[in-house]
Amino acid sequence: MSRPVPVPTPLSGPFWDAARRGDLVVPYCPSCDLRFFVPEPACPGCLASDWRYVPSAGRGTVYSVTVVHRAPGPGFDTPFALAVIDLDDGGTLLSHVDAGDAGSVAIGLRVRVDFRVLTDEITLPYFVPDAGD
Ligand SMILES: [Zn+2]
Repeated sequence: MSRPVPVPTPLSGPFWDAARRGDLVVPYCPSCDLRFFVPEPACPGCLASDWRYVPSAGRGTVYSVTVVHRAPGPGFDTPFALAVIDLDDGGTLLSHVDAGDAGSVAIGLRVRVDFRVLTDEITLPYFVPDAGD
């Protein structure tokens, strides 16, 4: 059985469009200079509604990590590492980190975005250890 697939909404559609092209984008609010995630109708910093998506270089540092041993549903291969990642260019997001051995993902690990095609419509941003090339 396959895993659940995200369903794009008007708010998240541009994020999924970019991921399909191999680009990571995050919501950015020019009113208060805040990058945030997940996309919300109003900026969590100042409640402005005219935020926009901006590109991210997709490099960052693991802020927090947990290893999931019990699948949250059918179609997930366990164990896997789920981490909060501080992006170098601003913003924080929750993502899988594929390091081969899930237990090797530690706080402070340098990571970069990588993409996994799930369906024709959905490509998931993943993170992998960054060799610093
Ligand atoms: Zn704002």
